[in-house]
Amino acid sequence: MASHIVGYPRMGPKRELKFALESFWDKKSSAEDLQKVAADLRSSIWQQMAAAGINYIPSNTFSYYDQVLDATSMLGAVPPRYGWNGGEIGFDTYFSMARGNASVPAMEMTKWFDTNYHFIVPELGPDVNFSYASHKAVDEYKEAKALGVDTIPVLIGPVSYLLLSKPAKDVEKTFFLLSLLPKILPIYKEVIAELKAAGALWIQFDEPTLVLDLDSHQLQAFTAAYAELETTLSGLNVLIETYFADLTAEAYKTLTELKGVTAYGLDLVRGTQTIELIKSNFPKGKYLFAGVVDGRNIWANDLASSLSTLQALEAVVGKDKLVVSTSCSLLHTAVDLVNETKLDDEIKSWLAFAAQKVVEVNALAKALAGQKDEAFFTANASAQASRKSSPRVTNEAVQKAAAALKGSDHRRATNVTARLDAQQKKLNLPVLPTTTIGSFPQTLELRRVRREFKANKISEDDYVKAIKEEIKKVVDLQEELDIDVLVHGEPERNDMVEYFGEQLSGFAFTVNGWVQSYGSRCVKPPIIYGDVSRPKPMTVFWSSTAQSMTKRPMKGMLTGPVTILNWSFVRNDQPRFETCYQIALAIKDEVEDLEKAGINVIQIDEAALREGLPLRKSEHAFYQKWAVHSFRITNCGVQDTTQIHTHMCYSNFNDIIHSIIDMDADVITIENSRSDEKLLSVFREGVKYGAGIGPGVYDIHSPRIPSTEEIADRINKMLAVLETNILWVNPDCGLKTRKYAEVKPALSNMVAAAKLLRTQL
Ligand code: GLN
Ligand code: ZN
Repeated sequence: MASHIVGYPRMGPKRELKFALESFWDKKSSAEDLQKVAADLRSSIWQQMAAAGINYIPSNTFSYYDQVLDATSMLGAVPPRYGWNGGEIGFDTYFSMARGNASVPAMEMTKWFDTNYHFIVPELGPDVNFSYASHKAVDEYKEAKALGVDTIPVLIGPVSYLLLSKPAKDVEKTFFLLSLLPKILPIYKEVIAELKAAGALWIQFDEPTLVLDLDSHQLQAFTAAYAELETTLSGLNVLIETYFADLTAEAYKTLTELKGVTAYGLDLVRGTQTIELIKSNFPKGKYLFAGVVDGRNIWANDLASSLSTLQALEAVVGKDKLVVSTSCSLLHTAVDLVNETKLDDEIKSWLAFAAQKVVEVNALAKALAGQKDEAFFTANASAQASRKSSPRVTNEAVQKAAAALKGSDHRRATNVTARLDAQQKKLNLPVLPTTTIGSFPQTLELRRVRREFKANKISEDDYVKAIKEEIKKVVDLQEELDIDVLVHGEPERNDMVEYFGEQLSGFAFTVNGWVQSYGSRCVKPPIIYGDVSRPKPMTVFWSSTAQSMTKRPMKGMLTGPVTILNWSFVRNDQPRFETCYQIALAIKDEVEDLEKAGINVIQIDEAALREGLPLRKSEHAFYQKWAVHSFRITNCGVQDTTQIHTHMCYSNFNDIIHSIIDMDADVITIENSRSDEKLLSVFREGVKYGAGIGPGVYDIHSPRIPSTEEIADRINKMLAVLETNILWVNPDCGLKTRKYAEVKPALSNMVAAAKLLRTQL
């Protein structure tokens, strides 16, 4: 029985690649230094998989930045503005596309399906001259072979590549990207031929777009593409790998009828219906690469349960045709549990990071072949049992309270218009009130204070004193700038999710559980392992301290339940919505404590609400229902006079605007300036919004200081589509990554613009 890994994290167990990349970009080390670190990482990953007994070990899943950008390089699809003159693409051109250079900005980046990984979006038009311009796939195959490891080279499949692309700027939005198929397939043929010549026996095409909602045209593109490649592929075993969701019956049919294809890789963790499709009809003589080990999460596999799934599948596809695999690339999980020194043994026994998942895959393959490692399976079974019964996981009161929320509705009793009136009587704000999103610049000094407090190097008293001073500085500055609704600046927070997770029960934190987000950037999501509750107030002390420093309204500042959920590794032993409801109840307690402490404006950030939207449209409504419900649960208990704000850093949500309205916040502040004002188009098209709304008036991602005129101009554009009395004036997002030298003049101009327009109303 064979074993396979779809792909593996590139960063290294201690983010070695990140540091090598950043040092190279800073010109502190040479290209050779970077190549050496990369080659060492690849070699150790291959050796590790070989030592674990994996039969199909992937190559070309390493990347200096992004695998889609690697495919763009392979195809020579470099946008003309990067001035590439042909030949093999080197670091200069590659990193210019990824990160921009002194004269040209980077290519667009977007989320890889519903993961937190971001890829560089290919820009294609009818005039692209495709050419074979990066031999990376072949080079990596040969490199592994020289190390004694025969790998299965991985390429992004041609159809997914095109479906993930966007039309270049100068072509119409309607440009049919799939029309480029005949132009890119010849390059694929060259690569395939070279891989064959180098000795490859297998090849893997990642075609994850097969799990999306596709029309018949798009499905036909798969059929056509592989028919065209069939002759070139003959003599090779061809694996088409799909992941992240169930396949529709049509997509499954298309996949299993592809010409020249011998193996199908399917995500069986998210693909419960896919299992039924396999059972009802699997083509004779083909291989099933059964993705039973979850590449998206950090939990140890339930080996006994996987084994029985695999045995059932084996009866369908045949003994020598079943290959045990991961549900998707392990890129989306943490790297190696061995480096977790701070987690206790019990929690550790429940987890498996990439390195451990490789071992699990192999153990399952062995067990299927009749060589079950009894000790390994027994240890796994007892870890599963301990997770089920551990008092750290279960809190019955929380479970009852959360279960009671299902199917119910929670809303504030009064409608938003009446609430806004009541609030205005109390808050007395001018028209076009000004505010900011929460964080103020995080100086090195501030980071040092937090770090030293965490390491017990400074006393709690000293820490509190330092943070209070910082808050005072931020409050004074906002008064000086004459901002209407103030924030405390979030100096006590390292991260908007981690800060709350650390204070809630049911969360654990890793030391090295990094997951690549984009390029050299990684995130370290908290792990939600148990029922969530709030032992004590989390932000009340800081918010009331800040309120005591000013007569103006001070916003309480919380992260919402959906965002906490979407930016964590979530437990897999209950539905996501249940975990979300539990977090919502904890945040509800916090909201009510803030209100009791005299905080009249409370912002509950839902930065990640949009990104939790499932891949398939059929699942959207259900997600939106419980996500929006969770948000409303947090604040359904406050008085009419308490003003609830929410914030989102993403304005491309024309498709979920009704859910946003249904959140029933009193005020929403939204990113607006980077997205061609897509947001305003929603209102231009007639959507009515009765609550307060603050579309960001300037981009905080750039150091550029916007002028008063420019901001006034932006506000005027908003006034053209939104009622004067609901419009707020604020930046796009928090200011934590900016410098005071940028923030002061920018906010000063922002307030000046609001004041100018007030005189003209
Ligand atoms: N309140 C947070 C801040 O200002 C919001 C951050 C975010 O939306 N990503 O930093
Ligand atoms: Zn934001």
